Amino acid sequence: MKEMVYREFGKTGLRVSRFGLGCMRFPPDEAEAVRMVRRAIERGVNYLDTAYVYGNSETITGKALQDGYRDRVVLATKSPIWNIASHADFEKYLDRELARLGTDHIDVYLLHNLNTDNWNKVRRYDGLTFLDKMAAKGKILHKGFSLHNTLAAFREIIDAFDWEMTQIQLNILDEENQAGVEGLRYAAARGIPVVIMEPLRGGFLAGDAPPAVAALIDAFPERRSLMEWCFRWLYDMPEVSVVLSGTSTMAQLEENIDIFADAAPNVMTAAERGLLRQIREAFESSPSVACTGCAYCLPCPAGVAIPDIFKLYNSYQLVKPNPVDIFMYRNVHMAEGTAADSCTGCGACQDLCPQGLAAPELLPLIHKELMQAPMPG
Ligand code: SF4
Ligand code: SF4
Repeated sequence: MKEMVYREFGKTGLRVSRFGLGCMRFPPDEAEAVRMVRRAIERGVNYLDTAYVYGNSETITGKALQDGYRDRVVLATKSPIWNIASHADFEKYLDRELARLGTDHIDVYLLHNLNTDNWNKVRRYDGLTFLDKMAAKGKILHKGFSLHNTLAAFREIIDAFDWEMTQIQLNILDEENQAGVEGLRYAAARGIPVVIMEPLRGGFLAGDAPPAVAALIDAFPERRSLMEWCFRWLYDMPEVSVVLSGTSTMAQLEENIDIFADAAPNVMTAAERGLLRQIREAFESSPSVACTGCAYCLPCPAGVAIPDIFKLYNSYQLVKPNPVDIFMYRNVHMAEGTAADSCTGCGACQDLCPQGLAAPELLPLIHKELMQAPMPG
């Protein structure tokens, strides 16, 4: 059995596994989800990441942490800034989270997704004082934030408070997107540990590689899957503390943990770095929509299945013309009224999208392409 790799977590005094379990994509079977969390802990994963807004994730995580498992993990969860309408609301939601998780304290408490609106709200309702007060009460042990925002906004927030950690989106396609590698280094240089989310861009990088990418991987002497290369690019960076992955099956969990068995920093050779550069260029030359499937944009008032349509389109782009994708679009989404042509262009989803995707512009183009694509005979 391969051994987990651990690192110090900034100045917190915690020691964390470099692989962290993202609790956002649990399997629908609750008992299986509980087994998965416990299996991860038994294999040495000690960082768990959940959030108030991840459906029933906190409740399931809380169940998994009964029977002595709670003391074996660093438990991270997040304040639902969207729901906050007063200073008192911060503690009200934290208390609900403690109850759901069946614990009397959160090890790492994050202000969730500090986009511009949420950051303004944190300042309006004095969310930073709330964090200090909760730390003094012992309800939270360490203070952090997660973010999908620009590098400039990230720097401003980093400099505004005595943060003990931060969580950013980073993967081989987002090196210069959002906080990016520059943001990672900015935080790390200030002694703030960084947890990585979306290492596979919402699963997009875990799927079948486009032919150009597959050819590069096949020709390289070292045999690794695209997913392994994506994780390796991240754990190679010494500034990365924990890489979160939200596995949905036990097999995925075991595979992910195995990949992290050699997750020491500075392990990549120059040739490997060159391969990653080529993979990135190959992806950038094939059109795809940078949707992570987070579903923050839902529900669409017109009923468009926004993330499903983007996922289907990306799949179609990988193996054009893919009859399954075309069939699904025309015979399922069109028939159910969830296709791109139902979009009224209201723009509500664009304001909510952490990736800044312009759905009102993208959807008509996707619709046209999928309707005009010839069905293979
Ligand atoms: S812009 Fe279109 S897809 Fe987005 S919320 Fe409005 S109707 Fe729905
Ligand atoms: S369109 Fe944006 S908000 Fe909606 S699922 Fe994709 S990434 Fe998330």
